[in-house]
Amino acid sequence: MRAVVQNDKRGALGGWAAVRGGLAVLAVAAVVSACAGPGEDTEVRPAQGGGPLKAPPAAALDNYAARRHADHDMMAAAARRWGLAQVPLTPPPPPEHKPEITARNGFEVTGQEEEDLPPVFTSIPTRQKIVFLTIDDGAEKDPAFLRMMSDLKIPYSAFLSNYLVKDDYGYFRRMQSLGVTLDNHTLTHPYLPRLSYEEQKHEICGMQAIMKKQFGKAPAAFRPPYGNYNGDTLRAAKSCGIKYAPIWAEEVFVDHWEYREGEQNLHPGDIVLTHFRGREDWHGTMADDMRRFLNEVTREGYAVARLEDYL
Ligand SMILES: [Zn+2]
Repeated sequence: MRAVVQNDKRGALGGWAAVRGGLAVLAVAAVVSACAGPGEDTEVRPAQGGGPLKAPPAAALDNYAARRHADHDMMAAAARRWGLAQVPLTPPPPPEHKPEITARNGFEVTGQEEEDLPPVFTSIPTRQKIVFLTIDDGAEKDPAFLRMMSDLKIPYSAFLSNYLVKDDYGYFRRMQSLGVTLDNHTLTHPYLPRLSYEEQKHEICGMQAIMKKQFGKAPAAFRPPYGNYNGDTLRAAKSCGIKYAPIWAEEVFVDHWEYREGEQNLHPGDIVLTHFRGREDWHGTMADDMRRFLNEVTREGYAVARLEDYL
């Protein structure tokens, strides 16, 4: 039971909102069973080591060096413990000025700017070698995954669909307590363009209300299931208090990657999607999936940054 999201490079297909300009947007076709549903430099410093340092007071130098050394040792040990090929890179500090997020070209709906609708985008404008990890649905609730991401200090955002998380909100509360932002992925994970405005509003606002109740906060970000939406989706989302509708540039599975673009590589600011799935859904665990993801991004010289720091 897993969703297969494919890039279709031949043209747009059903589900995309009215596409302005009609250029070669790579539409996403969803073949679904359940989908359980401030610097300008592009360098990223090695985790807890190497790279330029802020000079500490001379008297603290010994302690500072010792602490950095210990931090580095700890990260190296964590990377070994979780079977990574390399220590993940440390992202730059959050930007002083957040970038302006606009709808990706060709992903706008009619009325996008006039009605100030939440933008749909697949990457964050940045020149730094960072990517953003987003994890969807919520079927698999693996305690080892929480430990792994915490040990390795990897930020990510979770887009939750109520029908999959309602049997264990506690798991996601633990995730939230570890610094993860929880976002809206509808109540029941429907194909939204097929629903009326009112039905879409129920799916999105209903999830906002549940998240406020269960997690204390209504999200600012919403992701339409399968990446499919229309004008009503974004109008409904806006009426529910949603500011952003991030989708994704790449999707990572436990055994392969899928890129939206033909060039098949990472770009600065790309949003990467994966899913909370386990052995029942694919041939591996969440930890296996994260190993594949982290090994690839580190090998390509990218760090994983926190999406909310840029929104
Ligand atoms: Zn989903």
